[in-house]
Amino acid sequence: MSDGKLRGKRAIVTGSNSGIGLGVAEAFAAAGIEVVLNSFTDRDEDHALAKDLSDRHGVPVRYIAADMSKADDCRALVEKAGGCDILVNNAGIQHVARIEEFPAGKWDAIIAINMSSAFHTTAAALPGMYDAGWGRVINVASAHGLTASPYKSAYVAAKHGVVGLTKVTALEAAGRGITANAICPGYVLTPLVESQIPDQMKTHDMDRETVIREVMLQRQPSKEFATVEQIGGTAIFLCSDAAAQITGTTISVDGGWTAL
Ligand code: NAD
Repeated sequence: MSDGKLRGKRAIVTGSNSGIGLGVAEAFAAAGIEVVLNSFTDRDEDHALAKDLSDRHGVPVRYIAADMSKADDCRALVEKAGGCDILVNNAGIQHVARIEEFPAGKWDAIIAINMSSAFHTTAAALPGMYDAGWGRVINVASAHGLTASPYKSAYVAAKHGVVGLTKVTALEAAGRGITANAICPGYVLTPLVESQIPDQMKTHDMDRETVIREVMLQRQPSKEFATVEQIGGTAIFLCSDAAAQITGTTISVDGGWTAL
């Protein structure tokens, strides 16, 4: 899928020590792209992830700790990386509660990590992309960037905001070799989602397959999870020449959720 021209480009993937971010990092490293992994922790195992990725794919991979809830950390991540050709804003958290019971601190954290971080990293990364005359900004939004569910006010607001930011980024960067798009996954089988299955099985007194189909994937018509490999492949496509005129838009990887 990669056209070989991606070899040697540098990508920053925020929130990439697990789940979708790590899947995108894996796809990038396999395509010969230098990768900067990130999360807010600074543990040996975070740096070991980078070494493993580097060893397996023969590309430079670094881990840079930075807290995406803090504007200065977001901008420092891009600076410490030495800029980037590809920026994937993926870091995200979730909290579920009715609006009238939603803790204000959780609202602020979700807006900061899931939305404002993308503004700060994009602002820091764009000047280098303008100089290079090439760049890709990929925001990992969600089906919840296009549609809503109850009890997810902050998440839905942040993801809709990310889709709006994606459009503005695309317009400002248009005609300069830079595209900005949002990937909107439905339910993706990440360790986080996997860990919820046993509890759901107990709560609903259902077997694994039934709980996945009837409860977790109730809104996903395919009744199958998307995979981190599929999100990685979508990111690679958005980086390819074939996608050079795709900008300011969303790509749903949601098994038909938003077609309903
Ligand atoms: P995950 O919990 O495995 O990954 C989230 C990543 O963000 C982790 O690496 C975590 O360390 C990092 N992170 C959290 N707070 C951070 C902070 N303050 N600073 C830096 N990094 C931080 O979950 P995931 O499912 O892989 O989610 C990744 C992205 O995909 C999120 O933006 C999420 O909203 C989005 N998404 C996930 C799904 C799904 O079903 N899994 C669906 C749609 C969208």
